[in-house]
Amino acid sequence: MRIQDLHHRLAELGALPLHSGRILRAWLQGRPLDSGRRNQQAQDFLPLAVREALPQLVRELDGLVRLRSEHPGADGSARLLVELSDGQMVESVLLPRDGLCVSSQVGCAVGCVFCMTGKSGLLRQLGSAEIVAQVALARRFRPVKKVVFMGMGEPAHNLDNVLEAIDLLGSEGNIGHKNLVFSTVGDPRVFERLPQERVKPALALSLHSTRADLRRELLPKAPPIDPAELVELGERYARTVGYPIQYQWTLLAGINDGQEELDGILRLLKGKYAVMNLIPYNSLEADDYRRPASERIVEMVRYLHSRGVLTKVRNSAGQDVEGGCGQLRARAVELVNT
Ligand code: SF4
Repeated sequence: MRIQDLHHRLAELGALPLHSGRILRAWLQGRPLDSGRRNQQAQDFLPLAVREALPQLVRELDGLVRLRSEHPGADGSARLLVELSDGQMVESVLLPRDGLCVSSQVGCAVGCVFCMTGKSGLLRQLGSAEIVAQVALARRFRPVKKVVFMGMGEPAHNLDNVLEAIDLLGSEGNIGHKNLVFSTVGDPRVFERLPQERVKPALALSLHSTRADLRRELLPKAPPIDPAELVELGERYARTVGYPIQYQWTLLAGINDGQEELDGILRLLKGKYAVMNLIPYNSLEADDYRRPASERIVEMVRYLHSRGVLTKVRNSAGQDVEGGCGQLRARAVELVNT
C-alpha cells in the first residue's frame, strides 16, 4: 500500500487534505481515529462517509506490519523482527536517544560484501505505508524523533516509496527534516530528486573506500560513480539543505584502514561540509573480514580529526542482538523468539 493511494481513497470519500492529514497523524502517533471509542471529537470533524470507512481503514493500516519478536540490546537499542502482511520479514532497530532505523526493501540488490542483507538479493520492495508503519509500530514502545533509512535495503532502489514515507514523516509525523536520514551507496537519481522534495532529509553516503576499484569490489552492484564525484554531489546537496553529509565507512582490517585511504579521505573531505563515521565491522558469521584493532581505530580518528575532517567512531547500536549495521536480514524462522 502506498500513502498516495490512501490519500486518493480518502479524497474519493469526500475527505479534504486536512482530514487525511489528521487521520494519518493520529495513526503515526499510535492513536488511530477508529470506531467511536476514542477521539470522538476528532471523528465528528470528518465527513460521514469517511467516518464510516474508518474502522476498515484502521484495520488495514494495523495489518500492514506485525511484531514477531523483540530483541533488546544492552545499549538501550532493540531489534524488532517485523512481519509484513504477505509473511515476508524485515527488521527495524530502536536506537538509543529516540531513534529508529527502518527497512525499505526485503533484501537488497547491491550485495555489499560486508552486509548480511545483501546476501539474499532483493526479494521485494516495501510500499511507503509499510515503511511508515514501522514508525507507528515503534512508537508503541517509545517515542521516535529520528528515523534513519539504514535498515534492510538500498533506499535509492525504492525511491518513490521512500520519498513518500519521508514526506509524510516530515509533515505529519512530527519529525524534524534533518532527523530523517536517507542513506545510499550513491545513486545519481538521489541527487536529482532530493533537492526538489518538500521534505529534504539529511543524507548519509556509503563511501567505504576512496579508491574506485576497491569500492567496486566492496559494493559490487552500486552505481559505478567515482568517489570524488560522489563527494562533489554530496557537497552540493549539503550546501543546499544546510546540514552536513554523513559519510559511512565500514572499517575492514587490512582492506580500508591503511595510510593510503586516510590520505584519500583528507583529499576528498577536507574543507567539505561533512562528518566521517567510521563503523568498525560487525562480524556475524565466519567470514573473511574483521575489524581493525581498537588502537588503530583511535589512531585513524586522531589523524583525520587533527587534519580538519570531523570524524566519529560509530559503534553501531544493537550489535549484541545482531541489530548493528550490516547485520540485518530477513531472518529464518528458527531465529524468531530467540
Ligand atoms: Fe544493501 Fe546497504 Fe547492505 Fe549494501 S549495506 S547490501 S546497500 S543493505
